[in-house]
Amino acid sequence: MISASDVSAGYDGQMIVHGAGLHVDSGEVLGLIGPNGSGKSTFLKTLYAALRPRAGLVTVDGQPIGELRGTALARRVAVVAQESPGDLPVTVAETVLLGRSPHRGALASFTVEDHRTAASALRMLEVRHLADRSYATLSGGEKQRVLMARALAQQADHLLLDEPTNHLDIRYQHELLDLVGRLGLTTVVVLHDLNLAARYCTKLVLLSEGRIVAAGTPVEVLKPELLNEVYGITVEQVYTDGCLQLLFSMPSEQLGVGTLDLEH
Ligand code: ADP
Ligand code: MG
Repeated sequence: MISASDVSAGYDGQMIVHGAGLHVDSGEVLGLIGPNGSGKSTFLKTLYAALRPRAGLVTVDGQPIGELRGTALARRVAVVAQESPGDLPVTVAETVLLGRSPHRGALASFTVEDHRTAASALRMLEVRHLADRSYATLSGGEKQRVLMARALAQQADHLLLDEPTNHLDIRYQHELLDLVGRLGLTTVVVLHDLNLAARYCTKLVLLSEGRIVAAGTPVEVLKPELLNEVYGITVEQVYTDGCLQLLFSMPSEQLGVGTLDLEH
């Protein structure tokens, strides 16, 4: 369970998130959506203690997250952040094995169990065939799946994901979010694609300019009038496979914010 109440957060003098809250029950997948720069990553960072809120409280299973540090935090919360780590000079297998670090003593070597867990995470993300490749040589989508495998190898019961599908092709976008739904972990996932959010999240929270403007089920949050207000785009609701999906249209008079005056 993850709860945030009345969280305000920002950088230096600038406040980005204003009085935001959310609650994710055990096993639930909550999607955090909102336009570019609305504060999704900033809010998410407060949920894994990478950023300390200026005000408000974040708890994991009722415990203030500020009390959890280092390996104690890593055993409870696994993260795939938006900025991927630099090109690690290690193989894919080693990268995923690093997810086991919170479970071993400082000087202990990896156990058979660690290797087994890492191999199973590689299989789940369909990257086992890449095990011996150097991480640095992978494509963006392959890296993203490897980082997800590393997070799963961590075996935390809370999972925080910042745009985990942004480098993936359409098939892997669905595969990954379907997997996230089946893991049964308490999950907060930042998503850009509102149709993926509608299909795979049990709850949504919509941020606009650092404030929460709607929270609830996908049907409650993805209202055409609200999305028009927040994103400035015309939206129509349809149902496919019994699931709410959105069609977008952009009247030409709403376009043209950027002018084409590139110099040669
Ligand atoms: P989102 O994830 O919704 O696109 P972010 O939370 O990344 O939005 O960013 C919200 C705002 O905070 C943006 O204006 C961004 O420029 C600013 N911002 C993000 N990270 C930093 C940082 N490390 N230092 C200063 N400003 C930042
Ligand atoms: Mg972001």
